Amino acid sequence: MATSKLLLTFAICRLIVTVGLTLDPTELLLLGVDGQLSVDPSDVETASLDFGLLTRAAPPLAVLHPASAQDIAQLIKAAYRSDFGFTVSARGHGHSINGQAQTANGVVVQMSGSKRGSGRKPPQPHVWPREKYVDVWGGELWIDVLRSSLEYGLAPKSWTDYLYLSVGGTLSNAGISGQAFNHGPQISNVHELDVVTGKGELLTCSEEQNSELFHAVLGGLGQFGIITRARISLEPAPQRVRWIRVLYSNFSAFTRDQEYLISLHGEAGSQKFDYVEGFVIADEGLINNWRSSFFSPRNPVKISSLEPDGGVLYCLEITKNYHESTASTIDKEVESLLKRLDFIPATVFTTDLLYVDFLDRVHKAELKLRSKGLWEVPHPWLNLFVPKSKIGNFDKGVFKGILGNKTSGPILIYPMNKHKWDHRSSVVTPDEDVFYLVALLRSALDNGEETHSLEYLTNQNGQILRFCDDAGINVKQYLPHYTTHEEWMDHFGDKWDRFYQMKMEFDPRHILASGQQVFTPTF
Ligand code: FAD
Repeated sequence: MATSKLLLTFAICRLIVTVGLTLDPTELLLLGVDGQLSVDPSDVETASLDFGLLTRAAPPLAVLHPASAQDIAQLIKAAYRSDFGFTVSARGHGHSINGQAQTANGVVVQMSGSKRGSGRKPPQPHVWPREKYVDVWGGELWIDVLRSSLEYGLAPKSWTDYLYLSVGGTLSNAGISGQAFNHGPQISNVHELDVVTGKGELLTCSEEQNSELFHAVLGGLGQFGIITRARISLEPAPQRVRWIRVLYSNFSAFTRDQEYLISLHGEAGSQKFDYVEGFVIADEGLINNWRSSFFSPRNPVKISSLEPDGGVLYCLEITKNYHESTASTIDKEVESLLKRLDFIPATVFTTDLLYVDFLDRVHKAELKLRSKGLWEVPHPWLNLFVPKSKIGNFDKGVFKGILGNKTSGPILIYPMNKHKWDHRSSVVTPDEDVFYLVALLRSALDNGEETHSLEYLTNQNGQILRFCDDAGINVKQYLPHYTTHEEWMDHFGDKWDRFYQMKMEFDPRHILASGQQVFTPTF
């Protein structure tokens, strides 16, 4: 406690010097947090960076490694009550790309990785096997949620492709992957939350209790409170996964099949795949990319022999989960589902692996990229929700048009059912029953090639957005990034008034998540 107080005093002095305020330090010293308030340069540096490596805000004044929800409540209360205030941003694993978890001249609450060192730490996951849910700390990484649940033979139902993301970070957006067509996004699979609001109140919320806060926080870009606990729905964990990829040269056939497959959802026991995604192959180099590791080099695909439509091929990616006790029927089930599809014959690529290895697949790719120095590079990603009625126009204009044959990273494309998304949450999606995620996951390289440069890729993202505007394709950004009030109002559309009202209610001084640039702090 003594060290904590010392560091706190130092941080407060920095606050006073930097912001030029006349704060009474005893106010914050009375906080008495059990965690650690740090002004260590390496903590401050980490909190000023994110996966995108696109922006570097002015560093925060201090970083809080909380031991509990109460620590966070104390900090925010101090920010809310003091005469001048300061900003507070939760940082999960810092895998945003546009500085969303940063805050200049405020305090970053480092939610993930706070379990290091001695002293009190945030709670471990608590699995409720009979009720089939797990209570987890907001900074818990999904990989650790999986590991804890698996000890009871259970697992969450809805995922992201990559598991080294925090629960609070993905629930502030939506959390999507190939299971979303069936289970909805991760925000549709939460029973209850504990949230510290922008007034420093620690509230439990759910459908029944403080429901306004519950719905606002889900997909709420961190604007209404810091999630300190989430109760996540579980199901019996499958043991193994049959993972299949098939190729298409015809975009209409590809999307027809994807849409057919996501229409098979809901009824327990009915025949369906458990995961439906897909990606675009716009140049031959991509076939060997980090997501294509099971296109075995011993069995190379000659793309040119497949007559790509406009130079572009499409890969449908599907899985079927199973238990070893039903292994004898899996081949038949998969075969019967594949028979209904219209892919290029003889382009079926199959592998079989443990459920956990399938879910954790991108981490393997991460390790490979890290070893080549290709992970910590700028990531000008663009994630769009595209309405089903316009996906053909998007294909012609972007995949076969603007992109050319250099894409600088994987391009994911998969459809989802809107009715699996709760319209009361804060997230915005296109106004159609089915919409697609198109994710351009690009890495910029400083290798002298113009088409790999950050400037080129950033300009191309702008060109894609302008094309969508001009062509009347009403896309919505996923993991949105805007910098003006007008752009945010336009993004939220008829959800804006509610979003604003909730902000006024739960964070009236605009203390939280200022890195999203939705609201300007009022001090
Ligand atoms: P951070 O970047 O730390 O924070 C993001 C935002 O959430 C910030 O505004 C922050 O203030 C707020 N926040 C963080 N924690 C909390 C909390 N406890 N309470 C309230 N607000 C909080 N997304 C998908 O949906 N599907 C994918 O398949 C997917 N794959 C990805 C793969 C990679 C390699 C990367 C880098 C990102 C991927 N994402 C995916 C995007 C990812 O879900 C979001 O960027 C997410 O916000 C990252 O989580 P984080 O813990 O790093 O959040």
